[in-house]
Amino acid sequence: QRRAAVAAVSGPGATSDGHAVPLLANIGGVGDVAAAVQAGAEGVGLFRTEFLFLDDHKQAPSVEVQQEAYRQVLEAFPEGRVVVRVLDAGADKPLDFLTPAEEPNPALGVRGLRTLLDHPEVLAGQLTALARAADGLSVRLEVMAPMVADRADAAQFAAACQAAGLPAKVGAMVEIPSAALRAGALLREVDFLSLGTNDLAQYTFAADRQTGSLARLQDPWQPALLDLVHAAAQAAQTRGKSCGVCGEAAADPLLACVLTGLGVTSLSMSPTAIPRVRATLAQYTLAACQEAARAALAADTPQEAREAVKGVLGVA
Ligand code: PEP
Ligand code: MG
Repeated sequence: QRRAAVAAVSGPGATSDGHAVPLLANIGGVGDVAAAVQAGAEGVGLFRTEFLFLDDHKQAPSVEVQQEAYRQVLEAFPEGRVVVRVLDAGADKPLDFLTPAEEPNPALGVRGLRTLLDHPEVLAGQLTALARAADGLSVRLEVMAPMVADRADAAQFAAACQAAGLPAKVGAMVEIPSAALRAGALLREVDFLSLGTNDLAQYTFAADRQTGSLARLQDPWQPALLDLVHAAAQAAQTRGKSCGVCGEAAADPLLACVLTGLGVTSLSMSPTAIPRVRATLAQYTLAACQEAARAALAADTPQEAREAVKGVLGVA
């Protein structure tokens, strides 16, 4: 009991029986690094690089400007790991010079990796800047693409990373149901997966993530969403590869236990959420998390899933 309490306030993320679940930070730029370090993040699980591109709506920042910004973040985690997401433009983050002006359904249009495959020079610039920024550092750099839909997408991204000579693991975000259902095919092309549960919920339930009145369908406890998380995590586990979560779901302490039980290998969240997730995870064994996961999957509604998991974990 005492050991668990000590483990809960600091140190790496783990279940009470020592199953490691690295707790990483979601950041939007170097300004978020201090909070991540202070929260004891073991690295960055989602570095949203959009911020760099929002300053100038006419063109991409130069390789030099990007290199400097990436370097500052990478240097903050000399022994850790930093997962950089390449530009996710389009839909709720349109960029004048990249995003088609007239799209009937921007969320279903040219966004994320699709934008970058239409503008390979922007992707190449970003990858070159990352390769240069990581040069000489011991940090474990990983690079992932948003909005990967199928194996062909994953293959094109992996090829671009290879062409840039990137000394990094290459990953695919799972934000589209097709990617979760066929996670094994994606893993023939990339080294790891990261579940973006915000978009995965949006696309699974056909419910715009920006429409507040549809919040019920954005609930990360929805069993259909958990089914897709389970499918992706199991595909990765079978192949000995990692599958993290970097959507908001990871910031909910009880759900973090469920995700761990589903086979998710790391959790990335806003830095402020890390201490509570660490403390909660440290109270339960991996077997308890797995039992909680089975209970959540057996539920028909988010409410039922929450109640069932509370029952299994003995939460009032
Ligand atoms: C997600 O979709 O869950 C995600 C992490 O990416 P973003 O919120 O930046 O779209
Ligand atoms: Mg997303």
